[in-house]
Amino acid sequence: MAKGALKWILYLVSAGLIVLGGLFLMASYPPYEYRLPVGVVFIAVAIVLLYFSREKKPIEITQTVNVSGPIKMKELHCPNCGANLDAEKTIVVDGRPFIKCDYCGNNFEVTEEPTW
Ligand SMILES: [Zn+2]
Repeated sequence: MAKGALKWILYLVSAGLIVLGGLFLMASYPPYEYRLPVGVVFIAVAIVLLYFSREKKPIEITQTVNVSGPIKMKELHCPNCGANLDAEKTIVVDGRPFIKCDYCGNNFEVTEEPTW
């Protein structure tokens, strides 16, 4: 929810910056030539904002897939060697989930952390 709202805020800010930038570009007639770079900067910032709000899309898709899976988990990394771990290889010992790393054989407890 928060991420979706943030994305919409980014879209709205970007749209506002593009409109403002456009106004500055249109109003950059002499003797107001200094408005031209301001307008270009506004539009450039808007493009950067849109770029970053787009970059977050793949992460959201991953989260949706994880939630619908059998075990609610974010992407797991071995704390020892940093390798990607398969959440389905979790074993439960004494009521606590453990994962064994395929790469270095490290056995560690899966701690429950909020995904967002
Ligand atoms: Zn490892």
